[in-house]
Amino acid sequence: MDVSPSPERRSSDPRPFWLAGRPAMGDAEGTVTNSHDRRVVGAYSIPTAEQVEQAVAAADAVRGQAAALPLHVRAEALAHVARRLAERAEELAQLISGENGKPVFWARGEVGRAVSTFRFAAEETRRFSGEVQRLDTEAAAQGRLAYVSRVPYGPVLAITPFNFPLNLVAHKVAPAIAVGAPIIVKPAPKTPLSALVLGEILAETDLPEGMFSVLPVPNERAGALVEDPRLPVVSFTGSGPVGYAILDQVPRKHVTLELGGNAAAVVLADADLDWAAGRIALFSNYQAGQSCIAVQRVIVEDAVGEEFTEELVKAVGALVTGDPADEKTQVGPLVSEEAAVRVESWIKEAVAAGARVLIGGTRDGATIAPTVLADVPADAKVSCEEIFGPVMILHRVGSVDEAFAAVNDSRYGLQAGVFTRSVDIAFRANRELEVGGVIIGDVPSYRADQMPYGGVKESGVGREGLRSAMADLTYEKVMVLTGL
Ligand code: NAD
Repeated sequence: MDVSPSPERRSSDPRPFWLAGRPAMGDAEGTVTNSHDRRVVGAYSIPTAEQVEQAVAAADAVRGQAAALPLHVRAEALAHVARRLAERAEELAQLISGENGKPVFWARGEVGRAVSTFRFAAEETRRFSGEVQRLDTEAAAQGRLAYVSRVPYGPVLAITPFNFPLNLVAHKVAPAIAVGAPIIVKPAPKTPLSALVLGEILAETDLPEGMFSVLPVPNERAGALVEDPRLPVVSFTGSGPVGYAILDQVPRKHVTLELGGNAAAVVLADADLDWAAGRIALFSNYQAGQSCIAVQRVIVEDAVGEEFTEELVKAVGALVTGDPADEKTQVGPLVSEEAAVRVESWIKEAVAAGARVLIGGTRDGATIAPTVLADVPADAKVSCEEIFGPVMILHRVGSVDEAFAAVNDSRYGLQAGVFTRSVDIAFRANRELEVGGVIIGDVPSYRADQMPYGGVKESGVGREGLRSAMADLTYEKVMVLTGL
């Protein structure tokens, strides 16, 4: 049944999902609760299997029209979304903070980034052009010219995580529209509400019917979408186990995986220690450490080890922890109490194996106090797995060689941060660190939404960031003109 969103909608009414660009209601409901105070933040309607089928059929039906959509139509739709997100920024920030438990300060930042993501996409769309290659660089190809264009593989299935429920959806929807590919979003079940508001905004554009759907189906029904042959691209952001299971499920599809990590920040003896300590304290704990590039491992050169540790612990102690709705809160709860219990158990495991707690280490409901651990054995989970909580481990090294070896001693490779003032060491870090991004003079958690972003090793396959994602969703097609 189709419904129109009505201004009289009460906050307890389930939100409609988006089926081929229109609001629709299914026959079941999900609810979203806040992990800090357990209040119900909102409800949403869950599509039936038949409605999911309709959305996929609509995406498939519109694929040719989508690919031929004039660039100005795509760019105007993207610019409209950016404007409307900005107009509804405060509502969205409150919603994200409610559904995710993220402090409202960070939630505002996320909405601002989603606005930029759509703006960048609108700009990139106007530059989305083919290129001409002269082939007469050798005699055999004389008189021939190649026209190279980029063609979308086809409809995209986007599967997104809970930790940036708006901007990581934006990172899939915006480039898909830019390249002319229909997209079906399956948001994280804990945090679907902001993606549903994005659907509402997308529905205001002139994009053709079928160009987008937002389908909050439960995990156990996501497999059918993954396997559907009418969706040749699966763009996944989330945990490694789920990502690799999807890759195994559909090895012949074009699968992009943006996965996790245990990001390292290296503090070398020539660094500005005050700046490094403040940045590391904040970006180990922002979003309660639930970012794939939150600082988890801090690798410090011995020469400044004592001084830096003191500054770091002081900076961590100064962070304001509490109610995510409070304007002053910097560190809120994890997404659920269950997640906090797991993080606490990993801290306890490390301590039992000889780690020292320099600060934090405690849990209150879904909140973990910002934690710094030292002397952590290399095989403890807090060291070698992704903690996804406000916990960092300190590791002292004697040289730059040892520091870089320590960064690379990981299954993951998303980004690394190196605090140094040396240009030589910066270039060496870029050559030697096995990661998708090297951030000099700042934390690994730095991301500008237009830059290429993605990992190596078990942190993923493929790249996002507008231009990179547009390349990722398309293939190069060559037409050779003869007799010129
Ligand atoms: P998750 O893997 O549990 O879930 C991600 C998405 O996959 C959700 O939408 C979920 O509903 C869906 N899903 C779960 N089981 C599925 C199945 N069997 N088939 C299809 N879809 C299924 O991850 P999460 O807990 O939501 O997010 C945290 C993880 O995401 C962390 O590992 C984090 O590092 C990673 N992450 C990576 C990036 C990046 O860009 N590299 C960004 C943010 C988060």
